[in-house]
Amino acid sequence: MVIGKPHARSIALRIAAAGTLGAVLAVVQVAFWMGEACAQTAARTSAPPVAEAASPTVAVAAVDPRLDSAEGAGRFTLSLSAEVAITFDHLVQPLRIVAELPEVSFQASRAPKPASGLVSGFRAGLVAPGRSRIVFELSSPARVSSARQVRRADGIVDLAIEFEPMKPAEFEAVAAKSAESRALAALAPLASVPSGDNRRPLVVIDAGHGGIDSGAVAAGGVAEKALVLEIALRLRDHLEAAGGVRVLLTRADDRFLSLSERVRVAREARADLFISLHADSLSAAQEVRGATIYTGSERATDAESARLAQKENASDALAGAEAGQGGEEVLDILMDLARRETRAMSGSAAARLVTEMSGAVRMHRIPQRAAGFRVLTAPDVPSILIELGFLSSKGDIALMTSEAWQKTAAAAIGRAVTGHFAAKIPASRRGASISP
Ligand SMILES: [Zn+2]
Repeated sequence: MVIGKPHARSIALRIAAAGTLGAVLAVVQVAFWMGEACAQTAARTSAPPVAEAASPTVAVAAVDPRLDSAEGAGRFTLSLSAEVAITFDHLVQPLRIVAELPEVSFQASRAPKPASGLVSGFRAGLVAPGRSRIVFELSSPARVSSARQVRRADGIVDLAIEFEPMKPAEFEAVAAKSAESRALAALAPLASVPSGDNRRPLVVIDAGHGGIDSGAVAAGGVAEKALVLEIALRLRDHLEAAGGVRVLLTRADDRFLSLSERVRVAREARADLFISLHADSLSAAQEVRGATIYTGSERATDAESARLAQKENASDALAGAEAGQGGEEVLDILMDLARRETRAMSGSAAARLVTEMSGAVRMHRIPQRAAGFRVLTAPDVPSILIELGFLSSKGDIALMTSEAWQKTAAAAIGRAVTGHFAAKIPASRRGASISP
């Protein structure tokens, strides 16, 4: 279903003149909204609204999200600076309706309150430049019964989306159709592999989360997605300066990629090593600190690793991407031998990372572990996930956000990568201490 029309970017002056909405623009753009409290929403700047409005690239602005949901009904309203084209998608596991929009700058000075009833929550944000998304979580199958945009006298557009219950079988049929069209869209080519000497090994660096998915957010507002991107860019620069390897990033800006897309980038590029960067958070144990190196495994080495993998794997569901594509099917059809070799290589790279990083940065007391991370399921690409530290620890945040620490960490990871490829030992003789 498509409603409205993409409106011209004439919003600028209208917003500046439009009283409350103009005033709200003085609040810094918030990367996303969630139906729960979020530290990021407290961030403010004194950027004047007129300067922002004068930018030719300014997106449609949206303020005042409101969700009213009860048993058997739901209503979502939002104020926009211009009409937008919206399409709706139905997703299962978990049940969601995803509204796809052109780039919308979601602004909020406060987090919306959690709702209950038919629509149990929502989250909104940027997916990629030019594309935004609002993800509605459903407690039972539902459809959009109406979506209207009405322009007020002051130029502001009021968007109202109404939800009504739907039969489970009908919802499943609609969701299956949605999945089909997404599968076609997914055939589009991915980021291009860096050219140059193809004999040099290719390292894919994956900055976790991005766009609508912020990952863990520290009490002070530091978001995992921004922190890991900074370190990914430093690591790329370090590896390119050192030479010897080619580097490909899964993302170089603030965009969302599903976990299976990240795996696909590594596989299609025929990467020799895949490194996913993250930063953990433990609300109950703020004294826990340090970096941990993970490899993939169906069986987690311990309960804490299992919890972490489960949290990282929820990324797709939160961001309105389809869960369950990629990974598992691949594991079923792959040859055991290839997988065993990949695991041995992952284990050896992990051990090398522990050695190099231990000498440079603070490590967790159990620095090498394994768990079922979806992003580590490429059967033919040795894959590692680095949790750089804990966003729940003030000490770790201070370190991880400092330039000195970032440079030291990038250099240590870089040394491990270079060493990994320099060691011309057969994979079977490398120490794979954790991979089962
Ligand atoms: Zn993460």
